[in-house]
Amino acid sequence: MNDARPPRQAQRTLPAQKRIALIAHDGKKSEMLEWAERWQETLQKHRLVGTGTTAGRLKSQLGLEVEGLMSGPLGGDQQIGARIAEQTLDILVFFWDPFAPQPHDPDVKALLRLAALWNVPVACNAASADFLLSSPYLSASYDLSIPDANAWANARI
Ligand code: PGA
Repeated sequence: MNDARPPRQAQRTLPAQKRIALIAHDGKKSEMLEWAERWQETLQKHRLVGTGTTAGRLKSQLGLEVEGLMSGPLGGDQQIGARIAEQTLDILVFFWDPFAPQPHDPDVKALLRLAALWNVPVACNAASADFLLSSPYLSASYDLSIPDANAWANARI
């Protein structure tokens, strides 16, 4: 079997001011709003981005500054995945709904795969998001291992 694992690891440093993506499926949006309200003071110290409807709700109901991308079913999850691959996203808070199939389930799976691959801290529910936001690493720079993209490419030429 062909082993498709990256041959080496490289390093990346997450900045003290994090770029945090916020996504909630429809069945989880009220939970996301409650959670974000609790963490509002902390969240506003960082740079926030979200899928269209989630970002819109966070802006209109809490007044948070959030960059809005496409709505999830229209490609927003893929846009966030692209930021992970480009290493311009530091934390993913994704309240996905375990009870509701989504029209864009392949995109959801792709996003979670990229987050695992690029070693991005991910929270999929309110308790894990509490742990992430209360971490001392949130407001400090933090070194993590990522795939070595150059070694990966060279091994395949
Ligand atoms: P939404 O997308 O914030 O636009 O609802 C979330 C999702 O379904 O991934």
